[in-house]
Formats: sequence, structure tokens, C-alpha cells
Amino acid sequence: MLTDFDLKQYWNEVLEELSGKVSAISFDVWIKTLKPEYTKDTTLVLSSPSASSQKLVLKNYKNLICEALTKTNRGFLDVEILVEDQVEKPKKEETVVAAEEEKPKESQFNPRLTFDNFVVGSCNQFAVAAAKAVVEEPGKSYNPLFVYGGVGLGKTHLLHAIGNQLEKERPDLNVIYTTTENFTNELINAIQANRRSSETEFRKHYRNADVLIVDDIQFIISKISTQEEFFNTFNELIQKGKQVIISSDKPPKDINPLEERLRSRFEMGLLADIGYPDIETKIAILMKKAQLERCNVSREAIEYIAERSTSSIRSMEGYFARTVFGAKIQGRNYATLEDAEEALRNAVSTEEKMDENADMEAVIDAVCKYFNISKTDLLSAKRQKEIAEARQICMYIACELTKKYPLSYIGSRFKRDHSTVIHAREKIKQDIKRDKMLKIKIQDIKNMVSGV
Ligand code: ADP
Ligand code: MG
Repeated sequence: MLTDFDLKQYWNEVLEELSGKVSAISFDVWIKTLKPEYTKDTTLVLSSPSASSQKLVLKNYKNLICEALTKTNRGFLDVEILVEDQVEKPKKEETVVAAEEEKPKESQFNPRLTFDNFVVGSCNQFAVAAAKAVVEEPGKSYNPLFVYGGVGLGKTHLLHAIGNQLEKERPDLNVIYTTTENFTNELINAIQANRRSSETEFRKHYRNADVLIVDDIQFIISKISTQEEFFNTFNELIQKGKQVIISSDKPPKDINPLEERLRSRFEMGLLADIGYPDIETKIAILMKKAQLERCNVSREAIEYIAERSTSSIRSMEGYFARTVFGAKIQGRNYATLEDAEEALRNAVSTEEKMDENADMEAVIDAVCKYFNISKTDLLSAKRQKEIAEARQICMYIACELTKKYPLSYIGSRFKRDHSTVIHAREKIKQDIKRDKMLKIKIQDIKNMVSGV
């Protein structure tokens, strides 16, 4: 069971996943009006404002929502939709049975991400030992503890495990967890509020920590004020003997841009890396997951998934969830090797198709067809608004879907150089953030190119 805070955050993730999949209007009218209420095992319970909208959502969007749950990969597979005024949240006792690791509401840590649920293998045993030492004696053993490793290999899990354990064993300590992005945004807001009090409050908050955990430091921005603030917070805490724990996807020496003084501070403590797990560890992770989520998955299926997952644990968990989901939609509560094969075949083929192997000409054709303009116009130097926009979209999609071509090649198809392509790519990237309709259009075109 997620806390209210986690639930909201999680629902936002699901919304993000869904946002490109339905038209903007339907999204606003049907999907955004749903409210996350609570969770039951692997089911997410939502409420809808009226009985009629509940019916419509169940009919038209339930599968899509389930699919999005699977993709977000947090262990939820099913959705239940109630009418808002009929929602009765389960009583506390029941929720405790559902998850014995349940923490009080205000916990900042995901109760699922504990040491108990973290499988130790040769790829991460050093980092785990260091993390446990820090829990034993915060501020004394390794300060800072700097955990680094590739995407989806367990850094956030380990940081939450430290947090969960400290909350349990040392409730007297003020443990603060933040992401670098969050830290930066809060700092910017405090500065923009232009009141001395908000900046002071921001400082007080972080500098009062007994343990400060900062996730994803690689996202620290080059702005002097951010790095300066972080540096000062960091120094003050270390000087006071408080513990600092940092994670990053690369070691300090490779983070750019990073002020030299911060880099040397990070290297002052213990650097612990998390590597890619071997096959035994991967199998153990999946078995743990099956046990935690009470999924019945055959040993062959687990081995199959573990063998074929080569990028991150997160994506391996995605394959696992798809496998379980595949069995479920066929009305079975156990997953077999065939389910795993099917799940991976679909996943890998869409990823491949979607990824980078599309043909440049296919992208051009799809854009022309979608906007109903001629190829000659698209590839010309015409500056008419619709054509220029389609051209930029075409360059953007080409960058995304045809990674095998250098940018200069993409540019050359339009008789432009690579800097024009970069400009188009960045512009559309920004536009998509503001314009949901554009995002959907681009997804439609990508689907045309990929034939899905
Ligand atoms: P990162 O922060 O390094 O990108 P996460 O900590 O988010 O990665 O891990 C991705 C997923 O893999 C999470 O669901 C996490 O619980 C799981 N995971 C990673 N390592 C392990 C492990 N050793 N044992 C169990 N689950 C793991
Ligand atoms: Mg992470």
C-alpha cells in the first residue's frame, strides 16, 4: 500500500505514460478527472466523478490504464474504478496485512525499497556493505558515501533502504531525502520568491539534517548559485559530523560540469559503485519480486527473462511485469515460459522498431502523408509555416528513430547542415513539453513509421 504522497506521485507517472496515448480532449475529460484513492496488492483503485464516466472509462480506457501501470513498472497490474462518493478506503488493519513494511504516512521513503528486498550479489555487495555501515554509525564511517552506477541498477533503491532503516532504528535523527532536481527547484523558487525568509527557510531545512540523502547528483546544473548552495550545505553538514549520501550515474570525475571543489569533496569520502548483475543475481532479483508481489511465475520463465535482459534491472522488471500481465489477461494466475517468450517478443520487437532502426525515407514519407504535403515541398527550402513546421518535426523524428544516421546525413536530405537539425530537434523537444497535441501528433507519426 502506498502512502498518500507516493500514490499521488505514482498516479502522475501513470498520467505521463498515458498522455500521448489518447487525444488531448479525452485525456482531459476522462483520464485526468480520475483520482487515485488507494492500492490493494497489485491493484490501483481510482475514483471517477460519476457513474456514467466510470462506465465509459471502464469500457474504453481500462486496458490502456493497465498497460500504463505495467509500463511504469511499480508492481501494479490492475485497475479498479469506483464512483467517487462510494469510495470507502480500507481500514488501517487491512492495509497493514497487505504490506507489513508499512511506514507511517509521513515517510519520505518507499516502503518497498528496503535492504530486505535488495538482493546482494558481487555487483553491489561493496555498496550494500557501505550503506549498512552508514546506517550503523551515521556521520562516522564514510562521509560522504557516494554511490554510483548505471541507470536502473539499484541506486535509488539503496538510498531508500538506508532511509527506511534509519527511520526504523534511529527515529531521533532528522533524515532528509531529496533529488538533485528537487533541491535545485526549491532553491530557484526560494530565490525567486525574493524574500529573505524563504531563502533562510530553504537553508535551515537542509542544514538541519542529521542525514542528507541526495539522489542523482549528475543532474546538478551548472548554475553557480546551485553548486554554491550545495557546496555550502554539504560543507556545513560534514563539518558538524552529519552524514551525507549521494548517488550519481557516474563517478565524480566524469560529472560535467561540476565545480572542482565539489568534485574533490565528493571524492573525499567513500566511492562505491554498483555494477551490472550476473545471471544468478538477476534470477534471485526476479524470484524475490515474484515472492513479494505474490506472483506465480515458473522458474523457466524467470530464467528466460533474466537471460535475455541485458540493459538494466528496471527494464528486466518491465519484462517480468509484462509476463505476469500476459498471463493475467488470459485469465491465469500463473505465468509460464510461453508467457515470458510472448512478452519479450512483443517488448523487444516494439523497442527495436521504435528505437533506432527506422529508415530515413520512411520517416519522410510518414511526415508527408500525415501533414498531406508533397515530398518536394518538405525537402525544399520553402518557408511557409506549415511546411517549415513539418520539416522540423521530420528532423526531430529522424533524430529519434534513425540513430544509425549521423546528423549531417539527416541534414543533407534537406540540403541543410547538422546545426539546423540540432536546432529543429531542440525546438520540437521544448514545444512538446508545452503542447500536448503536438506530442500526440508525433507519436502518431512514429507509429506510422514503425508500423504499429
Ligand atoms: P537507479 O536508481 O540506479 O536508476 P533503481 O534503484 O530505481 O535504479 O532500481 C530499478 C529497479 O530495480 C527498482 O525497482 C529496484 O527495486 C530494482 N532493483 C535494483 N537492484 C536491485 C536488487 N539488487 N535487488 C532487488 N531489486 C533491485
Ligand atoms: Mg534512481
